[in-house]
Amino acid sequence: MFMTQLESAVAGVVTKEMKVVAEKERMDEEVLRSLVAAGKVVIPCNKQHTSISPEGIGKRLRTKVNVNLGTSKDVTDYDSEIEKVNRAIRLGAESIMDLSTHGDTRIFRRKLIETSPVMIGTVPIYDSVIHHQKDLGELTAQDFLDTIRLHAQDGVDFITIHSGITRKTIDQIKNHKRLLNIVSRGGSLVFAWMSMTGHENPFYEYFDEILKICKEYDVTLSLGDACRPGCLADATDVCQIEELVRLGELAKRAKQYGVQAMIEGPGHVPLHQIQMNMEIQESLCDGAPFYVLGPLVTDIAPGYDHITAAIGGAVAGMYGASFLCYVTPAEHLALPNADDVKDGIMAFKIAAHAADIARGIPNARDIDDTMAKARQVLDWEAQYACALDPERARSIRESRAPEEDHGETCSMCGKFCAVRSMNKALQEEYIDIL
Ligand code: SF4
Repeated sequence: MFMTQLESAVAGVVTKEMKVVAEKERMDEEVLRSLVAAGKVVIPCNKQHTSISPEGIGKRLRTKVNVNLGTSKDVTDYDSEIEKVNRAIRLGAESIMDLSTHGDTRIFRRKLIETSPVMIGTVPIYDSVIHHQKDLGELTAQDFLDTIRLHAQDGVDFITIHSGITRKTIDQIKNHKRLLNIVSRGGSLVFAWMSMTGHENPFYEYFDEILKICKEYDVTLSLGDACRPGCLADATDVCQIEELVRLGELAKRAKQYGVQAMIEGPGHVPLHQIQMNMEIQESLCDGAPFYVLGPLVTDIAPGYDHITAAIGGAVAGMYGASFLCYVTPAEHLALPNADDVKDGIMAFKIAAHAADIARGIPNARDIDDTMAKARQVLDWEAQYACALDPERARSIRESRAPEEDHGETCSMCGKFCAVRSMNKALQEEYIDIL
């Protein structure tokens, strides 16, 4: 009996989870199995997460979107977070990362896993302080490993660990003089722990122990980029690339051990550097799936960072990123509320879909063609049915209906409607404007 999807795939076995993913992706099961075996696709699916409907992340599959949620010191209402989760799933999120940092995180995590059909990810270092009720500097390497085991037992499908920075990174960050040092929350905690204790990064030093836990439950590793650039000036610098080299090495170790792994990526990256970043990752990490945050293509739009990030996400997806972590308008400003979450998800569903079309994912454009046909015959109900957000589309049209409702045009052009004029002209009908 094989313990992980990767081990099964390497042994030539198509698991029931692979069958589900192959059907969702309209892909041949054997092709999918070979991609999983090669480490180019992961199926994050903890054996304890029984409510999951498995999804694949990686080469030749649809781009997936992750939504970050969870309690914080200022927002501790479990019910409102669960409501945000349910809404995120309804809006099409394929994954939820529970980044809770306050209250009884285990209650929330277990409820989430019990009820969610989507992939659930966590960052165990956040929870270590809460679970062990110790300040960061008092935590031991064993405490971190115990938290990872706890999350694995609870059914978490993938965990982010920042294994790529080492004590050498401390000197590098001090000498290299980045504008924004480390902006990854988990990365900064690992850096601070190393600085305070004088020890090596426990997620690097005890990587083999972590692999053992992950294998037991089939937890996928998401190898976090502690040095992801936090501004355009720090993009693609030596800190980022040096860490990526190590992440690539760790991904290979995970693969050899039979544990699925993906790589986390930037961050803030100017538009013209995104393709290069995707190609460097592909080459250094042997094609392991790339999970990117944004990337944000400018630093000057707080309040609109779902847009700056979705632009980067679409381009990253087109050039090879497989998994996009959403960004909301509240990025850099506050914990997102329900409206921010919705705006972030919609921006990233658009980015992911645009990337899928550009990558030539089979059938990705079908829905666009159906929309075009509905527009051509001015069939508004059919247009709503194709829309990513039908409710919003309907409410905009109906709140601003044309003065003379011909049931066909909208108030943008009224009787000057190009579609109406062309339809009538081509059918040799009289075109009334006045
Ligand atoms: S009125 Fe203008 S915007 Fe509206 S459907 Fe016709 S052409 Fe399109």
